Amino acid sequence: MTPKERVKEITELLEKYNYEYYVLDNPSVSDAEYDRLMQELMLIENEHPELRSPLSPTQRVGGKVQDEFKKIKHQRSMLSLANAFNEDDLRAFDKRVRDIIGGDKVIYMAEMKIDGLGMSLVYHGNLQYAATRGDGTEGEDVTSNVITIKSIPSHIATDQDFEIRGEVYMPKKSLIKLNKIQEEKGEKLFANARNAAAGSIRQLDSSIAASRGLEAFWYYFVNAKEFGIRYHSEALDYATKLGFRTNPERRLCNGIEEVIDYIKEYTEKRPNLDYDIDGVVIKVDDMSLYDKLGYTAKTPRWAIAYKFPPEEVVTKLLDIIYTVGRTGKITPNAVLEPVRVAGSLVQRATLHNEDFITEKGLMKGDYVVLRKAGDVIPEVVRPVESRRSGLEEPFSMITNCPVCGSPLIRKDAMHFCLNPHCDARKIEQIIHFASKDAMDIEGLGEKVAEQFFNQGFFRKIEDIYSLFEHRDEIIALDGWKEKSIDNLLDAIEKSKENSLERVLFGLGIKEVGAKTAKTLSRIYHDIDSLSKASEEELLGLPDVGPVLASSLVSWFRDERNIEVINSLKSVGVNFNYLGSTTKAANSYFSGKTVVLTGTLSAYGRKEATEILENLGAKVTGSVSKATDVVVAGVEAGSKLDKAQALGITVLNEAEFLELIK
Ligand code: NAD
Repeated sequence: MTPKERVKEITELLEKYNYEYYVLDNPSVSDAEYDRLMQELMLIENEHPELRSPLSPTQRVGGKVQDEFKKIKHQRSMLSLANAFNEDDLRAFDKRVRDIIGGDKVIYMAEMKIDGLGMSLVYHGNLQYAATRGDGTEGEDVTSNVITIKSIPSHIATDQDFEIRGEVYMPKKSLIKLNKIQEEKGEKLFANARNAAAGSIRQLDSSIAASRGLEAFWYYFVNAKEFGIRYHSEALDYATKLGFRTNPERRLCNGIEEVIDYIKEYTEKRPNLDYDIDGVVIKVDDMSLYDKLGYTAKTPRWAIAYKFPPEEVVTKLLDIIYTVGRTGKITPNAVLEPVRVAGSLVQRATLHNEDFITEKGLMKGDYVVLRKAGDVIPEVVRPVESRRSGLEEPFSMITNCPVCGSPLIRKDAMHFCLNPHCDARKIEQIIHFASKDAMDIEGLGEKVAEQFFNQGFFRKIEDIYSLFEHRDEIIALDGWKEKSIDNLLDAIEKSKENSLERVLFGLGIKEVGAKTAKTLSRIYHDIDSLSKASEEELLGLPDVGPVLASSLVSWFRDERNIEVINSLKSVGVNFNYLGSTTKAANSYFSGKTVVLTGTLSAYGRKEATEILENLGAKVTGSVSKATDVVVAGVEAGSKLDKAQALGITVLNEAEFLELIK
């Protein structure tokens, strides 16, 4: 592979990992793997500067701004930090600093590198807003969630403009508690404290953030100079006096060797802290030198982050088993002799794909090095060849689907089962049926559905409703308690009462999304009337095109689908539309065309739309003469102007809330 090709390959991987980490809060690789790729990319770019694009991941802060939140432009960029992985890196950093500012020894502040989510707070006496780092230039306004953290002052004793930055994090105890709840609900576990904190802060419903037990430490008083403060240490003391929680473990060090001692000390103390740290941040204490030391596009030159090496243990690779994902993708997984690493017990680890295993030369029965870089995703690093007994079995990738037996197809590094009738696809249907926008069966997430499917407790959607027959077998499974299975069975029972649109969406008819399901339900009221509708009739409806019409008609023509409906009916699943109850008919919004604009504090856009639709309103995106009502939150812009010009009724948030009560 040429360096150019490798740059392209790594860039694509890092972009994918950035997306998973910063947008989905759900990384698929460990931080150590991410950092390793980033180092490799930097190295190639240093050797071949012509390959360095200004958009390279080495040149940009990785985060992204999501549309759900109001955007906030940072008054001063929020940067990332350059990394150091060993003592040499630290000494090289120190040398660069001294080369620029002169002198033998620099006074550094060494601080815990809290594994959370960077945050900026801006005050003018009162807190003005809290913003995430985003892409460094622009962040997300998450004030309503951040103020649920009780230690954050809402008012400070100065009227001067004031910006402080720090880390919102999830204490270890809260993460354990949260993951336990996620596990009981059958939902994905948070990979680490950072992702859990970010996932909580990015909730549209602030009561969720409030329930997650978040905390914060503040580590950078941005405009301290305007307050006549010269030293970072002094700035932190001042912030503490103003009421901000600053980290008590920080220490001033005289020269880089003292910093290295501090790092050694905290490598030992790290497990005893009640929050996760992934390293130590080292900052030049004299802030008057910052401009002289300068900045790269991505990082300041007056600070560096030392990252702890990932923790490694050795355990035995007992077996390699395969899972079939929802798209038919086959993933090999290591079954390991249970081992404790970085605070949790590990018995499974993904082996990603065939190449991953062959490149590492893993054999069944090998002792392997397992690594966890302070996060929850364990990684098999390499076999311990010196411990081989000769009884290990060489690896060869399976050629047929472990679920349906169809021959597998290899695409890039991945293997796929392409059989559309493969049971694995049925898992997908079950997961979809139970999902939030469909039947909303809490506790029947991807993991649980796969577990029950593999145990043979259900094979098709209808079987969900006879899961109770397996109650005793489920209790006997690892990780299940009476309470958790009973909660799930209750949720399944409750789902029978859902209104038509949920089950209609849950059936997974091609082209029928949640919104279409709602429209059709509102018009047809029950599934039998809908099943009799002709293509022609459907085409006469608003928002129904020929593809959707033909998909619906042919779906209802298939006997097998009618059987599914009949069996669901026979167990008591409701197929009537319940949205147009008297509640909706009596509502102010019933039959009205409504436009939402600006930001509401009580509801996100999606929730407000759902509420209005349930009350019989049609929610549209733009204001026209056909609009009956405009609901205007804060910072409503041109839509509000247009509504006023057209003389359309405008409701503010308080009026809206009163009317939907
Ligand atoms: P970073 O986490 O390496 O360091 C910068 C951040 O540290 C700052 O923005 C700040 O939020 C935080 N910080 C914590 N304590 C601090 C303190 N005392 N002083 C100053 N800052 C402090 O950089 P990043 O840009 O936020 O993230 C990049 C890192 O995230 C990568 O190195 C990798 O480890 C991880 N990552 C992992 C994946 C993945 O897929 N696993 C993907 C993207 C990023």
